[in-house]
Amino acid sequence: MSIKVENITKLYGTQRALNDVSFEVKPGEIVGFLGPNGAGKSTMMKIITTYIPASEGQVSVCGIDVTKDALAVRGLIGYLPEHNPLYLDMYVRESIAFVAQIHGIKPTKKVIDDIIEKVGLQVEQNKKIGALSKGYRQRVGLAQALIHDPKVLILDEPTTGLDPNQLAEIRNLIKLVGKEKTVMLSTHIMQEVEAICDRVMIINKGSLVANKSAKELTNLATEKTVITVEFEGQIKESNLKNIKGITQFAKIGDNTYKIESSSDIDLRTAIFNFAVSEGAAVLTLQKESQKLEDVFKQLTRQ
Ligand code: ADP
Ligand code: MG
Repeated sequence: MSIKVENITKLYGTQRALNDVSFEVKPGEIVGFLGPNGAGKSTMMKIITTYIPASEGQVSVCGIDVTKDALAVRGLIGYLPEHNPLYLDMYVRESIAFVAQIHGIKPTKKVIDDIIEKVGLQVEQNKKIGALSKGYRQRVGLAQALIHDPKVLILDEPTTGLDPNQLAEIRNLIKLVGKEKTVMLSTHIMQEVEAICDRVMIINKGSLVANKSAKELTNLATEKTVITVEFEGQIKESNLKNIKGITQFAKIGDNTYKIESSSDIDLRTAIFNFAVSEGAAVLTLQKESQKLEDVFKQLTRQ
């Protein structure tokens, strides 16, 4: 097992940040660690990476207990912390060389060139970190996390604060790196997990509430479809009720309705026909398919 977490509890004073959490991550997996803010994601990652001790339970990385040989574990892990503390005054190449030396690697030109290429930092490689955008700073963080060619990568909210382009680029980079490494990444965004991960573990208030493949999680989703429709003019709500298959509807704006049905029925044609019979054209119609998002909300409610 790349990561084995057994019955981990973490107390901060009297607060239970983690409550009897157990899971395993197999070699080669990309696993998403999903949960709302304050769920305990960073705490779990700090325990796995040996930066803080657990109150109870055991963690091992590639078979090595994190409390027995923290140094060996750090050698096996590449860690990108949530608020990665980069030295803004350092140059990109210099900062990567610095981290290489910490790992006992001689920072030759080739070593640095290779990692710069791997994370796509060629264009920015001669700048100071302070001059880089958030997306490129994350690449520097990834370069530092990868410099010692670790077996396991732990990425704490690696895409938070990135713009949509940077987000897509960093996700692709993680997927690429994930082909040769075990990756555990935390996020509070469901779509992120859908985009990158083989498996999802959902944590809420310190407890693991789901541990499933992305597909299994989708199947867990509520079996309903939601359509948002805006009519051109007023329609008679009592007639809307008569459309076959509607289980529920609500007015959410001027002539705009949210309409629910079971997911095996496609109501779109019926809604268009209804609009015609009401003499009110359909201005917009949107079918929602964010099923995983629904599951996430259900599992982490309160
Ligand atoms: P997440 O990363 O999922 O947002 P964290 O692991 O950072 O969650 O935090 C989990 C809980 O533990 C939160 O309620 C947080 O306030 C608390 N917590 C985190 N770090 C500390 C700390 N050093 N001292 C006290 N409480 C903490
Ligand atoms: Mg966190």
